[in-house]
Amino acid sequence: MHYEGNIIRPPSEAYSILLQVTVGCSRNKCTFCGTYTGERFRIKPDAIIMEDIAFAAKHCRHQRRVFLCDGDALIIPQKRLLNILLEIEKQLPWVTRVGVYANAKSLNMKTPDELKELKAHGLGIAYMGLESGDDVTLKTINKGATADQMIQMGQKARAAGIKLSITVILGIAGRSRSRIHARETGRVLSAIDPEYVGALSLMLIPGTPMYQDYVNEKFQLLEPVEMLAELKTMIAATDLSRGLFHANHASNYLPIKARLPKEKEVTIQLIEKALAGKVDLKPEYLRAL
Ligand code: SF4
Repeated sequence: MHYEGNIIRPPSEAYSILLQVTVGCSRNKCTFCGTYTGERFRIKPDAIIMEDIAFAAKHCRHQRRVFLCDGDALIIPQKRLLNILLEIEKQLPWVTRVGVYANAKSLNMKTPDELKELKAHGLGIAYMGLESGDDVTLKTINKGATADQMIQMGQKARAAGIKLSITVILGIAGRSRSRIHARETGRVLSAIDPEYVGALSLMLIPGTPMYQDYVNEKFQLLEPVEMLAELKTMIAATDLSRGLFHANHASNYLPIKARLPKEKEVTIQLIEKALAGKVDLKPEYLRAL
């Protein structure tokens, strides 16, 4: 396979065929993100992508899922993206689901019918970074979309039958907007009603604008108990018709995996116990991105 630069994939795609179709991220401006710093975004040549699919056809016969790397491969123009999916269907007939990162911009560039067409040819799940549902925070972190736009684009993907896994970040609003961030994020998640939510805990990356703000004392990092209090408020404000709310990423202090709405109350009670010091939190040295 022809891999270039950092290859990032969601934890749940650990066993998928990682097919790199773009390099970098077309936005590359979020203030907390150092994943593709200095990397110029580009779509890889079709010939290379087709070679990699042919390689997977020979050597990845036991992997049932494909994940299209990098940052936001959904940005690829419809005809080219469809062509990639058609080739996967043809050469890897055992593959049951293709996943991709998406953002509000790339979802906005696709019509509802185009998304349905992609779904019909295997695109089963999109991973979308919401980070926060608070407009002030979204602007501060330079996410490039408002909460309303996030809701509209998330609903658009769901209406096309594409599953959504949404990432939110605990601590991203700093101390002063922590409660607002938690409540607004719950509101936006409830409006989109995704199948999966993954809450990460902010870890500052040296070299990013947010890290610099922290060094210059313009941004305050939350203490572990404050992150937990934020998580509790967020879960309390999140109403999903049937979804899985994870906060069990390696970056989190307390692993949570809750089926909503069924396990909402018991999860809130568990967080309250942790806040009261009755449940151990993960030590700092064991946290990672
Ligand atoms: S957070 Fe996502 S959209 Fe923002 S720069 Fe990083 S990869 Fe790109």
